[in-house]
Amino acid sequence: MPSELGSPGWVDTHCHLDDPAYDDDRDAVVLRAERAGVHRVVVPGVSPASWDRARRCRDRHPRLIRLAFGLHPWALRGLDAAARAQALDALPQALEDGAIAVGECGLDGNLAREGGPSLDEQSVILSAQLDLAQARGLPVILHAVRAHGALLSLLKARGGPVPGVLHSYSGPAELVPDFVRLGLYLSFGGQVTNPKAVKVHKAVGVTPAARLLVESDGPDQPPFPRITQRSEPADVARLAGVMAELRGGAWDDPAAALFGSALIA
Ligand SMILES: [Zn+2]
Repeated sequence: MPSELGSPGWVDTHCHLDDPAYDDDRDAVVLRAERAGVHRVVVPGVSPASWDRARRCRDRHPRLIRLAFGLHPWALRGLDAAARAQALDALPQALEDGAIAVGECGLDGNLAREGGPSLDEQSVILSAQLDLAQARGLPVILHAVRAHGALLSLLKARGGPVPGVLHSYSGPAELVPDFVRLGLYLSFGGQVTNPKAVKVHKAVGVTPAARLLVESDGPDQPPFPRITQRSEPADVARLAGVMAELRGGAWDDPAAALFGSALIA
């Protein structure tokens, strides 16, 4: 456990602890996290309803939980144009409640393919959130699925650094240096334990140690072979160990790197 080594503890940089999947035993999940040496859990709200739930989690566990608020691409599907505008209008006020980042926001190619908003539509919503993050001096928590090229183009076109984290990185290893140059951290979850996730393993291997973060992505991405249950913050120590192995041990003090993240105020 990192705390025994004098380190401040693990940070789960991405867990939707507000998700109803934790409704029956959220306190037990938090207790397991604390016992596993987890010091902070970043809970990114994904829609106005989720912001409210996330706030309630934080109020119950203020020491452990840090909040971010954003509009996730999948949340757009349930909102018409007026509701999207209303949510974006409400975001600055939501951030006033101790948010450490803007997000989760991003681009999702699967959503576009399944009849949801196109990548162009998603880009408009994402750009508004990037503008807000920049104006507030906050980092962003980015989601990208089958849209890494589009995301990179959008971020580069902004012409400046984009402090934050690209969570659950699933893009090609070849793009890692570009995202790192923009100022981003790359975070990885339970897929690192999947023996078949070769692309993810390669990306873990080429991400600079100082830009590498770990997350449970709870409740998604349960570590292999536990593929039918939830993931939870207590999993991050094991995930970090696997990541260190994937790097041939070249991640000497992951807990320190995690704690150094711009996300952890
Ligand atoms: Zn998420």
